[in-house]
Formats: sequence, C-alpha cells, structure tokens
Amino acid sequence: MLTDLTIAEARDALKAKKFSAVELTEAHLLGIDALNPRLNAFITVTHVQALKQAKAADEAIARGEMKALTGIPLAVKDLFCTTDVRTTAGSLILGPFVPPYESTVTANLLNDGAVFVGKTNLDEFAMGSSNMTSAFGPVENPWKRRQDENAILVPGGSSGGSAAAVAARLAMGATGTDTGGSIRQPASFCGLVGVKPSYGRCSRWGVVAFASSLDHPGPFARTVQDGAILLGSMASHDPKDSTSADRAVPDYEAACKRGVKGLRIGVPKEYRVDGMPAEIEALWQQGIGWLRDAGAEIVDVSLPHTKYGLATYYIVAPAEASSNLARYDGVRFGLRRDGAELADMYANTRAAGFGAEVRRRILIGTYVLSHGYYDAYYLKAQKVRALILRDFTEAFQKVDALITPTTPSAAFAHGEKMDDPIQMYLNDLFTVGANLAGVPAISVPAGLDVNGLPLGLQIMGKPFDEETVFAVSTEIERAAGFTALPRIRAGG
Ligand code: GLN
Repeated sequence: MLTDLTIAEARDALKAKKFSAVELTEAHLLGIDALNPRLNAFITVTHVQALKQAKAADEAIARGEMKALTGIPLAVKDLFCTTDVRTTAGSLILGPFVPPYESTVTANLLNDGAVFVGKTNLDEFAMGSSNMTSAFGPVENPWKRRQDENAILVPGGSSGGSAAAVAARLAMGATGTDTGGSIRQPASFCGLVGVKPSYGRCSRWGVVAFASSLDHPGPFARTVQDGAILLGSMASHDPKDSTSADRAVPDYEAACKRGVKGLRIGVPKEYRVDGMPAEIEALWQQGIGWLRDAGAEIVDVSLPHTKYGLATYYIVAPAEASSNLARYDGVRFGLRRDGAELADMYANTRAAGFGAEVRRRILIGTYVLSHGYYDAYYLKAQKVRALILRDFTEAFQKVDALITPTTPSAAFAHGEKMDDPIQMYLNDLFTVGANLAGVPAISVPAGLDVNGLPLGLQIMGKPFDEETVFAVSTEIERAAGFTALPRIRAGG
C-alpha cells in the first residue's frame, strides 16, 4: 500500500521513480474520500490543488530537482493560514475566512515540494483536548478498544484531525500546534510521533493565535525520522515573527542516528502523581529501562513547581487568548451579525461565532487581566511560570533530557469528561510544563494499554536541543518496536 509508506521510504521511491507523486497523492485522496465522511478528520479537502502540486512535483523529479518533501502528501491543521484555501480555526467566526496569505510554516513546506491534501479539524481556536469543541463536529479516533469496537474514541486535541489523518493513512504527515499539549497528547492517543520544538523554532506567523507565548507549531508523523524530516522543513528564522529564533536549523534526521550512549536522562519525580494508572507507571519504567540498556545513565531529578503547571497554564493561556481573540469583531475577518449599533454588531457577531469553551476562556482571561485581579492571578501566574522555567534550567544542568509519560490515560470515548472542564484540563498534566518553559518535547508511541490503545512516552530536552530529543526518541522507538495499527485506515 502506498499509503503505508513512511515519508523517508516514499522520498526514496519517488526519487527512484518507482511510482509518481500523482499516484501517491491519488492513493491518499482515495483514502480521504472513503474514510473522511466517517472520521471527520478534514474540514476542507483540496483535491484539485493537491493534484496540481503533485504534478508539479513529478515535473521537478523529472528535472532531477528533488527537495526534502517533493511529492509528499501532507495535511495541515486548519489553524495555519493557507493562500486561497479556507482557514476556519475550527470556529464559526472564521467559517467564511479565506486568507490571502500563507503561514511561514506551510510556505516552508511548499517550498520543499510538499503536496497539501487538506485542512484538518481541531478544537475551536485550538482550545481543548478532545477535538469535541470544533464547530465542524467531532473527529473519530481510528483506533478502537479491543473489547468494545463500537465505542467511538476521541483522537485527542486540539490537533485531533491532524492526528487522525496521519494515523488512518490519509496523509503521510501533518502540521499541528501545541500550546499546552495539542501535538503530543493527540499523538499519544493515535499512536504517532508528535514533535513540539523549542519556542521560537517554528514561526507563528500566519498561524491563528491562541496564546502567543505558548503556541508552538510542530509536526505529526508515523516515525521519529519522519518527524525529523518534517521539522527540518517547517523550522526557520522568520523576521515576520519577533519571537522567532535566529538560529541555524540543524540536520535533525542525522541527529536521530546519534544513539544515547553516555547521555544522562532525568526522571522527574513530581511526574509520579497520585492516582496515576499502574500501566502508565509501568510503561514509564519500561522506557527508563530501555534507555539504561542502551547505555544512558538514569538520574533522579526534581521539578518542584510541576504541581502548579496546570493552574499557571489555565491562567496565562486564557489571558492571552482573551486578548488575541478581541480581533474577531465582525469587521475585519469572517462572520458578521448585524446589530442596531456598532456595539450590538460586535456582541451579536461574537455570540454567534464563538462556542462554549472559547467563551469560557475569554471570560476567565478577561477576569484574570482585570483591574483588582491582575496582581492576584495573572502576575502571580507569570511569577510561577518563571519558577517552572527555573526548575527546567536547573534540571538540565544535571541531565541531557527528561523522560515522562505523555498523558495520564489512553484515548477516552466521545462524550466522556465533557461535563467537567477540570477533568478535561487534567489531560495536560504532563505536557504543559514544556510549553511554559519553551523546551522541546516529543511524544513517541511506546506501548498499548489494557484495551489495546496506544500510549506515548515523552522526551523533553534543553532549549533548542531538539537533536538530543530526536536521538533519545529514536532509541525509545527502536526498543518499543511499536507495530500495532489502527482499526480504521486507508486500505485496511
Ligand atoms: N488542552 C489544552 C487547552 O485546552 C492545550 C491546547 C493546545 O495545546 N492547543 O488549552
């Protein structure tokens, strides 16, 4: 099956002209046509554009001009602005929005020859952990519980459509964004590699903003090597994003082969939380054992402010969101609902355009930024954030990388945790720290839970040292030998 190939395999086969980019793209589009009505992973499928890009890729290959991703079919989270292709952010308020410009990350991918098959579903404005808050309906996780084939599971969120698309072989890789875990958690739920690079590594320009100091674009892939190939293309210094890092992009693919011998790997004791399922703890111990067997030195470390991570995140993220989302006023983008006066038009537009979770975040954010509460909440959260960053800085004086679980559970069913936002926010327990500190982190599929659902392990590294994180992730991938496949997949 062409759709089962990794990006690295497809790249070599395209180069050897074993098949054409058009054939490869058609195989994926067929899969999308067959499965998307059920999975709802894509909000927009771009058949015509994809075939045009694939044809151009074949012409480039014929001329001997292959780039890193020439002819590789990818999916794009519908939070990245794409020229002349509708970009919704999973929200009704941007439902009719067709950007006249391309985000830097997607422009980088296109410059490297990628083919875009469509825009993927997500929690509204990337706020969520289940993809249940999308205005375009929920996404079905292609994985099934062994004993309960009928239960429809969430793919995780917010990048749930990207994760479902890559897991179901509807695209060879995808872009995502990770503000508190939205690449790593869905990667873990869907048996994929999810890469959240350092803050500033991938430009945020042209990515619909959720929480600007926490938003990290990054890739989904089925192997660590493919994740390295994608990040290498997505990352760049971008003068249009003032927080973009002016640093050379290393050869991540080469870094995957470095091995872990002699590396010091930290195990942060605060990630061993009360009530953590025994199988998550067991997987974590297994991962630690794999790295020790491969010649790494295991070191116990402490990140003492870990317990404040979630509370800090759920103040800082809504604060920034409330300010970022002020721009949706019915005048400049997307939806408008008229009213008797200007203020009514704003209110009508925002009431019609934003869903419940987004409204909740705007309310919380406005509250913590308002006079009298700013010092008590927002300022305090910023101080705690500095302490969380200091924890990481101190730990990384002793170790080269950290290993933890990615999520406290495997994928849950549609409807579960929906009546209790706090339960939903607990999904982000192990992931928010890396966002608050801006350090790189990768989730690697490492095993199955009792129901046969994928579970990921998370590797975190020093700021801008994605290379070590890729090397350690490659060893976890090798040792885990994760070969299980999702029940629903193209040609499956
Ligand atoms: N689940 C987290 C939230 O709801 C993270 C979302 C994200 O990373 N975009 O905010």
